[in-house]
Amino acid sequence: MTHAALARLQQGLAALQADHLERPRRLLDGAQGAHVTIDGRRVISFCSNDYLGLAADPALVAAAHDALDACGVGAGAAHLITGHHRFHHDFEAAFAGFVGKPAALLFSTGYMANLGVLTALAARRGEVFADKLNHASLVDAAQLSGANFTRYRHNDLAQLEGQLAASRAQDKLIVSDLVFSMDGDIAPVDALLDLAERFDAWLYLDDAHGFGVLNDGRGGLTARARASDRVIYLATLGKAAGVAGAAAAANKIVIDWLIQKARPYIYTTALPPLLAACLLESLRQIEAGDARRERLRSRIAQLREGLAGLKCGELMPSTTPIQPLLIGANADAVRLSQALLTRGLLAPAIRTPTVPADTARLRITLSAAHSVDDVAQLVEALHAIG
Ligand SMILES: *Cc1c(COP(=O)(O)O)cnc(C)c1O
Repeated sequence: MTHAALARLQQGLAALQADHLERPRRLLDGAQGAHVTIDGRRVISFCSNDYLGLAADPALVAAAHDALDACGVGAGAAHLITGHHRFHHDFEAAFAGFVGKPAALLFSTGYMANLGVLTALAARRGEVFADKLNHASLVDAAQLSGANFTRYRHNDLAQLEGQLAASRAQDKLIVSDLVFSMDGDIAPVDALLDLAERFDAWLYLDDAHGFGVLNDGRGGLTARARASDRVIYLATLGKAAGVAGAAAAANKIVIDWLIQKARPYIYTTALPPLLAACLLESLRQIEAGDARRERLRSRIAQLREGLAGLKCGELMPSTTPIQPLLIGANADAVRLSQALLTRGLLAPAIRTPTVPADTARLRITLSAAHSVDDVAQLVEALHAIG
């Protein structure tokens, strides 16, 4: 017999299934890449965030082998105890230099970095101003901080300006995805910085999808944002960088404050140092990655040209590797995704609550690892199904 609380969970799961909102976990064998083995089948994947094809790159794998021999597997302790390895330290310095900020701090994941930065900078009497389409981790972070949490319509700077003008908070923090993760569009960085300057606010930019890809790999910061002490930049390192973790870059005082106050940095075991060694190699590959970025750009152009005039959906305006195909109803998006899968093409349906109601979409992501033929197959299949 199930007890009442367990029965409620069971009903909740059944309701998700009925609404086409249940999310399966597909089982991956072997390495991440453009072609993967999922649930025992070879498919072309259009859904990883491995935008540069670095996740299984031989240079990164070799760096992992070398580091494994040098430092073993586990970090063994938190950073403020004995877990802060030279590899972590060297990566922070190299990353800060690369993105053009004075200092940086390496977190174990992007989710934890967002929790850490927001809770450390926007304490109880502060106010967080957030774009409504920000990533879920930023929403959770704002709530955990205990600060007032004010959201503005997507990229609506007039509304944000009114909210900033009305605020009595001392510590104000404007928070935005730099590349929006479900839409692929880019935040107006300099206009956000103008507002941050006028209203004496911090500007925190989460560039999970831009780092490695935009502007020669340095990500979406403008020259002004790079030079501004108000701007805190976040790159997550499990996407284009192909490894794991996240690095915040900012003025050195901000980084020193985070080391003392960011609880998701302090109270957790450090990332295995071998991953920091991989990240150092990844940074080299990103810096020398113009050919990869050029391949990626040409696949994006090929997809957009190929899908112009498609009947079953419309590509949203995006210049980034995130190319969402807007469908509308949850069930239609799911059906399209399933039809693609029967042709060996993997592009997941993104539904509410991840995106607003009636904007279900296929979130197609492209990678430098895709061939011209990979993209051509997707284009052909979508026209055939549509
Ligand atoms: C993926 C993502 C994160 C979380 O990063 P992880 O390293 O995967 O925890 C944070 N912000 C945005 C915008 C993301 O897309």
